[in-house]
Amino acid sequence: MARDVLRPTALDELRRKLRAGNLAEELLKPGKEVVLRAGDRKLTRDELRIEAETVAGGLQACGVKAGDRVAIYAANSLEWVKAYLGVLRAGASAVMMNPDYHSAEAEHILRDSDPLLAIADAPRAVIVNKLGVQVIALAQLPRGDAPPMPRLSPESPAAILYTSGTTGRPKGAVLDHGNFLAQGRGALEVWRWTARDVLVHALPLFHLHGLGMGLHGTLLSGGSAILVPFTPENVVQQLTHGGTMFFGVPSMYQRLCDWLDEHATDLSHVRVFVCGSAPLPPALFERCERLLGQPPIERYGITEGGIVVTNPYDGPRQPGRVGYPFPGVEVRLGELDEVLLKGGQVFQGYWRNPNATKEAFTPDGFFKTGDVGEIAEDRMLAIRGRIKELIITGGFNVYPREVELVLEAHPAVQEVAVAGLPSDKWGEQVTAFVVPSGSAPVIESELIAFAQERLASYKCPKRVITIDKLPRNAMGKVQRSVLTATKPS
Ligand code: AMP
Repeated sequence: MARDVLRPTALDELRRKLRAGNLAEELLKPGKEVVLRAGDRKLTRDELRIEAETVAGGLQACGVKAGDRVAIYAANSLEWVKAYLGVLRAGASAVMMNPDYHSAEAEHILRDSDPLLAIADAPRAVIVNKLGVQVIALAQLPRGDAPPMPRLSPESPAAILYTSGTTGRPKGAVLDHGNFLAQGRGALEVWRWTARDVLVHALPLFHLHGLGMGLHGTLLSGGSAILVPFTPENVVQQLTHGGTMFFGVPSMYQRLCDWLDEHATDLSHVRVFVCGSAPLPPALFERCERLLGQPPIERYGITEGGIVVTNPYDGPRQPGRVGYPFPGVEVRLGELDEVLLKGGQVFQGYWRNPNATKEAFTPDGFFKTGDVGEIAEDRMLAIRGRIKELIITGGFNVYPREVELVLEAHPAVQEVAVAGLPSDKWGEQVTAFVVPSGSAPVIESELIAFAQERLASYKCPKRVITIDKLPRNAMGKVQRSVLTATKPS
């Protein structure tokens, strides 16, 4: 059991077992049953396996070799899944790109990850083309004869997931086959996921939550998933027609509850709801308990460290606390009560960034999450805040500096600091505090539009507040906590 205190040798042995194998081989098991649905389309396990093999053959014919990188820049779809599994099956690693990225953000990821080619859907292919990276249309995935299964180890890279550094520039976290296998196998155990389960999958596939839990868990469990664009109607429709599991972020649960308030629906048959990626406010926990028939199981994770802590499936689920470690995972608190992690899910390092990698680990090999934690007497973890000044809005991460850099380029702005203000709808709302330059008027709607032309919409400020000067500490650093306590006039 995850909560047992294991001797280090037993823990190492457990981690080795959880990490063992080749991810492509484990995800693509044969079977005649339907594994994925989207709209009125469906794929059996055998069809999915053959698709992945054929795409792998096609990619190899395009020059992709084991160890190469292939970027995927597209919205969720069955083709996205085929492309991704084709990349893995070819022995390459997939560079995950948020389809919401604008050109400058896409450019940074593509330059940094240096892929051999990018697979993109029609709107994103235009952006990739402009950047001079070879692009394959998602609608016309290359096809070829099934290549032999590549010989890979658990340490072979499987994907690069971009996360943001404190400077605001996204860094590539390299996740290996073993990371994803430990992640997926852990999820099956903690949430009792079986071949009878049907996941209603409405999370972005490029993110660890939707990929490492949603997609991989489905394929490893022997169960199936229905891909739907997130709307409360879509989710409820699928949960009342065979869905047994739903994974979401708090803002999704907020919208689901708002909808259920208006359209009372009995969802008490659903086996499990899981929530994470941002704090689940206790009021929302209780609302879910009332409207869904059970509170969601809150879990905690981070791209580099994996989704590694969860409230118990059987035991009482606790509002405001994220629970106990997954199998094989150790959690402890470091300086400033920073949450430190060790386990089979924890990444090897940042792509081409040995300095950042070195800084990310303690000398004894624990990953430093940047989150502030508290461990109670019963060993349950609670997350108290973030050392880094991350804003989490609608489950997405926004680093203030990245937004500030954009707004600083506007003529009306002399100085700007960006912080998250609490919001019922978004969890936190990106808010810009602007010191006017005096050479042009600060017009809220104009600054928001200026940001929208340059940043993914979730990163753009929802409010712009004018102030005389930025509060700074003795070291000249902006004190964001003072700003977030400022009441807009
Ligand atoms: P990401 O790398 O996008 O998964 O974001 C990871 C960050 O999300 C963590 O470092 C935490 O700050 C935050 N996070 C994830 N799950 C939770 C949770 N259940 N409660 C509070 N914060 C969370």
